[in-house]
Amino acid sequence: MIQLSLLVLFLLRINDIHSKHWIPLKQDVVHNVHIGHHQEIASKPKVQQIRFKVVYHSSVNVLSLEKQVLIKKKLMPSAVKYFHNTFSVRNVTAPIKLQRMCESNSFFLKDKTGDNPGHLQYCKVACEETTCGPIKIAESFLDDCRVCDEHGNHCKTKKNVNIASEDKRNTDFVLFVSSIQTDHCKESSIVAYASYCQQEHALNRPVAGFANLCPEKLESNPQSFESLLSTVKHEIYHALGFSVGLFAFYRDLNGKPLTERQSNGLPEYNNMNNLYQWSKKIVKPIVRKDWSVSGGYIDHEVQMVVTPTVKKEAQKHFNCPDLEGAELENQGGEGTALTHWEKRIFENEAMTGTYTQHPVFSRVTLALMEDTGWYKANYSMAESLDWGKNLGCNFVKNNCRAWIADRIENKLSTAPFCATLKQSPLHMRCTHTKLSLALCNLVKYTSNLPKEFRYFDRLGQVPVKDIYTYGGAVELADFCPFYQKFTLTEEDGRKRGTTCTIKENAPTKNKNYALETYSKYAKCVEHGRHWTGKKDLLTRTMLDWGSGCYEYDCTPHGLFMTINQKRYHCKNQDSKIEILGKMDGWNINGSLVCPKCEEFCAGKGQCPKYNITNFIVNAKHSAIINLEEKAHGPEEHGIEPKHASSTLVYQSILVNLLTLLTIFFNANLYI
Ligand SMILES: [Zn+2]
Repeated sequence: MIQLSLLVLFLLRINDIHSKHWIPLKQDVVHNVHIGHHQEIASKPKVQQIRFKVVYHSSVNVLSLEKQVLIKKKLMPSAVKYFHNTFSVRNVTAPIKLQRMCESNSFFLKDKTGDNPGHLQYCKVACEETTCGPIKIAESFLDDCRVCDEHGNHCKTKKNVNIASEDKRNTDFVLFVSSIQTDHCKESSIVAYASYCQQEHALNRPVAGFANLCPEKLESNPQSFESLLSTVKHEIYHALGFSVGLFAFYRDLNGKPLTERQSNGLPEYNNMNNLYQWSKKIVKPIVRKDWSVSGGYIDHEVQMVVTPTVKKEAQKHFNCPDLEGAELENQGGEGTALTHWEKRIFENEAMTGTYTQHPVFSRVTLALMEDTGWYKANYSMAESLDWGKNLGCNFVKNNCRAWIADRIENKLSTAPFCATLKQSPLHMRCTHTKLSLALCNLVKYTSNLPKEFRYFDRLGQVPVKDIYTYGGAVELADFCPFYQKFTLTEEDGRKRGTTCTIKENAPTKNKNYALETYSKYAKCVEHGRHWTGKKDLLTRTMLDWGSGCYEYDCTPHGLFMTINQKRYHCKNQDSKIEILGKMDGWNINGSLVCPKCEEFCAGKGQCPKYNITNFIVNAKHSAIINLEEKAHGPEEHGIEPKHASSTLVYQSILVNLLTLLTIFFNANLYI
């Protein structure tokens, strides 16, 4: 029990971390970068795959060789290739010359001669040192320094003789990559952050930005690579378009601004929140009138991206034909709220505000990039998002309370949400992706949750006075509890993840009590009962159970599981297969519950046909509901009767391995 309390404290600590997003201030962004003739760019239908010019800052070159290789040979090439293959932009017709920052951010727009109005930026009085986030831009990337006096007269151009001779017409976006231990890096669990710093004059597309990879957070082990790469891609998405600072610059398919522009060509700047104010054609507040909470229904306001492509893709994904668009995050404060997808309904979509598990960049994110008006997306690059898929309007328009109540009423699984208290022994499940072992992340907070997130009326043995202190460990998911992968710390200090496809996560042979295999061919399968082992006169029973990682293959006859070199045919969903095997001198016995064949073999056309059960959506619920799910019953605990009644006197041991170890859920904030 001590370990469980520690776990709760640890989770609370994680959820208290709020990070400030790097949304650039007005003076941090330079506009009017020329990439060709205005009319030509705006109307040009020709597009090409986006080309990055990656420029490494000196801070990268002083890192250890291992970290340099990680950034220069692995992370950045993979990320750049991903964006090149996923997005196209309108052809640039002139090389990108980055604009200079001006003293006091004051400038005039004039033509080449400096005598008439035009599109060229002339600094008032003096040009300043030009930066992009924490990086000083080298002279070789900068345009000439053009200056007028304070009245806009006597304009002069000081030629930049240091500009690189290489033709930057081959570049659509200049990305400065640094690895500086900034205050931002010190603040919290921030691994990397990025933003745009210059926008072009014709359509306001960002053409330069930076990514700072926090040097102390860079780990080059294979377990970290997936999350690191996904974080870098996440940050580049912010720099290219998915940012609350850029909403007001979005354009329709014809290049027409969606937000009204002022005489300087820019949208109105809102000095209250330090953002350019966007139109309701882009992000719109919508009030959910039947937000289900303990004690009744309340109004809950959400902010939604309502642009056409996003709306279409969100409706299709959730199978909710009257969905208004895609919901944005409402929590986390400045830098998290409004600039990510809502965690409750997009869980492992990589553009949500925290990293929890198996990040994917889905069609909805690609659609948002198209709706900026700057990019064309290649949807074959979209990754499949299983969370929320086809779960209907009750899932996407309400919260986990409404969802769980409805599913219980219709005798259906409450997944992906859950309401099981963590208790010893642990009862593990699988994540909705079937890629990892998972636990329900329902935890106790130190004080009552805000009214709009109080989902429970009763929870097992929890005293009524404490009931509102319970919620999901991931705050950004509106405190909705869901099955989440976790990390174990073994007695020897070794950290072990629960993702089946990473072979380093495998338990050692003498602790492989449930005959698991971790490999790229493995997925999470639920157990039918406790696993037991026999060796000489000893029997042992695993008290922590529920799911494990096993190899599988898809054949014309359907799904097969391979355990301990034996193959088992999974003929029907939910049928149990008996497993007998040997490990480290023990005779091991247990059972697996066959998963739905399509979950493992989708798209391979090798599954027998099932009838799809439709359930009735019921938005209103009775006022008092017990949302706790039934975990395994007491009859399944302990030693099986056949051992006790055997004529041989066995010495029995109960192994309660996992509860003795420290467990934590990953909830690193993306920024
Ligand atoms: Zn972010």
